[in-house]
Amino acid sequence: MNKITWRRSKRRLLVVSNRLPVSIKSSEGRREIRPGAGGLVTALAPIVRNTRGVWIGWPGCELTPEVLELIRNYNIEKSFDLQAVNLTEEEVQNYYLGFSNEALWPLFHDLLGQCMFEGVHWEVYKNVNRKFAEKIVEAVQPGDLIWIHDYHLILVAHYLRQMNVDHPLAFFLHTPFPGYDLLRRLPWKDRILGGLLDFDLVGFQTLRDRRNFCRSAKELMPELYIKAFYRHSIVRHGRREIKVGNFPISIDFSEFNDGAQIEEVEREASFLRNKCQSRSLMLGVDRLDYTKGIPERFLAYERALEKYPELRGNICLLQLAVPSRSHLSAYQDIRETLEWMVGRINGRFSEFGWQPIQYIYRSVSRTELLGFYRACDIGLLTPLRDGMNLVAKEFCASTVDNNGVLILSEFAGASEQLAKGAIMVNPYNREETADAIYRAYKMELEERERMMTVLRSEVKRNDIFRWVEWFLSSFREHEREEAASEIHPNNSKPVNDRVESSIMESIKSGGGGSYTDD
Ligand code: UDP
Repeated sequence: MNKITWRRSKRRLLVVSNRLPVSIKSSEGRREIRPGAGGLVTALAPIVRNTRGVWIGWPGCELTPEVLELIRNYNIEKSFDLQAVNLTEEEVQNYYLGFSNEALWPLFHDLLGQCMFEGVHWEVYKNVNRKFAEKIVEAVQPGDLIWIHDYHLILVAHYLRQMNVDHPLAFFLHTPFPGYDLLRRLPWKDRILGGLLDFDLVGFQTLRDRRNFCRSAKELMPELYIKAFYRHSIVRHGRREIKVGNFPISIDFSEFNDGAQIEEVEREASFLRNKCQSRSLMLGVDRLDYTKGIPERFLAYERALEKYPELRGNICLLQLAVPSRSHLSAYQDIRETLEWMVGRINGRFSEFGWQPIQYIYRSVSRTELLGFYRACDIGLLTPLRDGMNLVAKEFCASTVDNNGVLILSEFAGASEQLAKGAIMVNPYNREETADAIYRAYKMELEERERMMTVLRSEVKRNDIFRWVEWFLSSFREHEREEAASEIHPNNSKPVNDRVESSIMESIKSGGGGSYTDD
């Protein structure tokens, strides 16, 4: 993919996300600022920098004069323009922990039982979205493209429109989008759906999410005209047309593929393998989140050990749980549950010199993570629901010798692209997952290599750079079409499948999607 097409563009890109793409930590009493990790930052930061754009977000801590100074120096040093939105403690509680993470997060992951719908959370969510919109108004210049990210900021377009910003506005939802039967439980569903319709382009991870959105919109607003095409749908809302697409996010394939082959990582992987002697190593890597299905995974593994005694002493599950949102009680509960389960299962099956689960509760360095990916034979990634699950793609990209098996939940967004090379499971089906573990353990090298080759070429072809280019070309194209229809206001523009850019054409196979009738 051509990584420089967009960089040549003169138009500035304004990226807006809940968090700035940096991490600000205290070390020996002093604050330090470091570039954020992750594929999205890797892919977007150069575009923001090269178009002299801006990235707006919350720094993740109070915006004290010291933090402001850190950000200022970072901007100078990196030729960047980070602009911080300050959030009070009360805003963090209600907007971030409250509405975003106790209402939208579980609802969007189909986990109604975890939802808390509190009026005060909603009020503060609206206020903080308005605050982000005000920050954008301060930063925006004519001709800028504005790209807003994720469920924390769904109402930003609504406030920007109120403030007379008529720039093109795009939104990408990193989580899944639920079906209407779930969405309708949200007391503020109309505002959330209406908020999404204030954008010009709305991107989802999968075709299922796109369909869920279009069907919910139609249920709530029967007057909408919605037409579905191969790679996008068009929602006609009054005089406006909103383009809705599915753009499965990805990773920087080369970073993992190349990183997995460096000496330090090889050493880390050999160390792990030696520790486990010649046993099969199975890996789970997740933020500690109830959506990731870790207890269900442990129960399925326990069932596999029961059902297939041959596995005992010959396989080991290495589960890395990265601390997350630990201020919320649901997250404290799941941590306790897991620790209890690990103790129970290890107590039940351990033998001298072998225990079935190695459980690590912390974040690890990139080198360690790559070492885990390299050392493990089986990736066991079984979320109950996940926007994408980048770990699944990272595991494939790091399995450079093709000798690995991916067991993947059918409810991970990644399943739309990776099903053809993975063993697919329903994480709620313990028996099926247990059988999948045994099948992966027994799989012959030839079949492993064949399946992993399919997976790796999929992830390589559709990497994060291609995703960004694809999303932005779709955005510009929609803008051009809207502009064309304004030049001819009497032209009731037929909503038909439009010619898409060569980039879009070339990713036909990886883009997912089919003709639909939303
Ligand atoms: N990861 C991390 N620190 C760790 C272990 C993993 O930052 O100690 C990264 C991992 O490389 C992956 C991300 O966390 O890029 C998890 O992304 P995923 O889409 O799987 O799940 P999410 O956490 O976004 O729900």
